[in-house]
Amino acid sequence: MKITAIKGINDILPDEVGKWQWVESVARRIFANFGFREIRIPILEKTELFARSIGESTDIVEKEMYTFPDRNRQLLTLRPEATASVVRAFVQHQLHLQPAMRKFYTIGPMFRHERPQKGRYRQFHQINVEAFIDDPMIDAEVIYLLLVFLQELNIPDIDLHINSMGCVDCRQPFRIALSEYLAGVSERLCQDCQRRRLTNPLRIFDCKVESCRQLMRDAPVLLDHLCDDCRSNFASVKGHLKSLGVIFTINPHMVRGLDYYTRTTFEALTPHLGAQNAVGGGGRYDGLMKILGGPDLSGTGFAIGMERLLLLLAGKAGGQQHPIRLFVASLGAEAQSRGFQLVQELRFRNLLVEMDYESRSLKAQLRRADKLGATHVIIMGENELAKGVALLREMEVGSQEEVPLDGIVEKLLQKFDLVM
Ligand code: AMP
Repeated sequence: MKITAIKGINDILPDEVGKWQWVESVARRIFANFGFREIRIPILEKTELFARSIGESTDIVEKEMYTFPDRNRQLLTLRPEATASVVRAFVQHQLHLQPAMRKFYTIGPMFRHERPQKGRYRQFHQINVEAFIDDPMIDAEVIYLLLVFLQELNIPDIDLHINSMGCVDCRQPFRIALSEYLAGVSERLCQDCQRRRLTNPLRIFDCKVESCRQLMRDAPVLLDHLCDDCRSNFASVKGHLKSLGVIFTINPHMVRGLDYYTRTTFEALTPHLGAQNAVGGGGRYDGLMKILGGPDLSGTGFAIGMERLLLLLAGKAGGQQHPIRLFVASLGAEAQSRGFQLVQELRFRNLLVEMDYESRSLKAQLRRADKLGATHVIIMGENELAKGVALLREMEVGSQEEVPLDGIVEKLLQKFDLVM
């Protein structure tokens, strides 16, 4: 029986990889301009890291993590997101002692056991940005960076939603108001939300069940319960965004699926992806670093879903692989061996060259050269070898000229402008 990949976990084939590389290179260029440095974090972490940071009663931790014991019975999890690991690495390596180390980005696969559909997979890839600086200006900068990046990729019709999740001080009175409201509608909540009502009522805003969503439209929202500090902080973020010309919608019902967010949260939405309408999102997380055993430094960041970006880019140019320039077609064992050497030497000298390895007819080799987009073909058979030459064929016009084998490498490099 054939073995196939796991459902929701996809291969990325060479024809698609060009686009991935292009998106990644745009990210690297722009993030560097904004002072972000790449950090590479492990795919596997101790389960406890995510349970403590994302929150025990979130959908991610409750139902979506790939968790298993290793041989020493330690519980490990394939990372469902990157922020917890970046914070863990920051704390572990005491990067707070190095003032230049405050802004990071990372790109890589994440794993969540969700129901796969268009734009939602079990292995997906995120581009993540995190800044450990405590000022509303950095929230605005990170949001601006997200928008600049999407604009650079020419992603159309992005709608930016922002909200404030307040702090521990304003959450407590809000929780009471929310619990009172939920107590009044508790029989109409789904089973999960009946439980959430007692464990983590804020999570009910995340529920996908339509009847719960409807009930939550009339629920009290955190934005109306912000303390003075949080209110003025949110006003500053909005002011900085306006100063940068950023247009946004305030969405008091957006809570995001992770418990660690405080104050500013945001999402970049698209009308072009059906139900999976979030291209990226993030927010501020005061207190997370302390929870993970580090100094009490605030963080703010976002994650963009690569697959969703690529769906939005479908059909658009970007990152096509360079066509090869030269193809070496040889006929007969001796010519083939000479051709093989020539190919390797030219590659060593930076020319994109391909050859035939299967002793096919000249016609078949020329067809292949054409398919690969080669502009020129070197043809070598026994007659040419005996004369000490090869034929250089220009594909577009079909013309051929003899080139002496002696010095052929230099001659070809000259032709393709590769001579130093
Ligand atoms: P989150 O960490 O849930 O805020 O997700 C951040 C971004 O990652 C989302 O806006 C999506 O673009 C992307 N994303 C999250 N979950 C998935 C998934 N299961 N499949 C594909 N992309 C995802």
